[in-house]
Amino acid sequence: MTRSICSEILRAAAYAAEKHRKGPHRKGEEATPYINHPLAVANLLATEAGIEDVTVLQAALLHDVVEDTGTPAEALEAEFGNEVVGIVLEVSDDKSLPADERKRLQVVNASHKSARAALVKAADKTCNLREIVSAPPPWPVERKRAYFEHAAQVVRQLPELPARLRELFEDAYSLNACLGDAR
Ligand code: ZN
Repeated sequence: MTRSICSEILRAAAYAAEKHRKGPHRKGEEATPYINHPLAVANLLATEAGIEDVTVLQAALLHDVVEDTGTPAEALEAEFGNEVVGIVLEVSDDKSLPADERKRLQVVNASHKSARAALVKAADKTCNLREIVSAPPPWPVERKRAYFEHAAQVVRQLPELPARLRELFEDAYSLNACLGDAR
């Protein structure tokens, strides 16, 4: 029996919600539940960028499950197949590496991403920038600015991004004008 597109997407959303349930909240002051973030990433792709590829939308919903909840890639693959897991792994950092090295590798590897992983990565960064402005983490403004610059370095090197998604990222990047001045 083949599952419908709607049930495939909702199944991924429910799986992500369950896996993120015990995990940390987002960084912002409002302690937003983590699941709000992958939902926002998938919603941006579907609603704002017009992406209809179910595999991409499932990967967007699940994109932080391996990196942030310790769910093994094999478990995700058993539920959603190797295409979805392949995208998730392409956009996941290796948490065994120091943070600076992970950031450096994101920039180095950006231009080698598959077209589908590039969609998820661009939407992820766009949502992260929006969240820094809408639910600010308790970071000094310099750190927020550095985050914006790093995101731009990554996204501007991603291959095959649709023009609409590039625009959405650049719109979010322009919010750095709202971060305030360094003290
Ligand atoms: Zn994310």
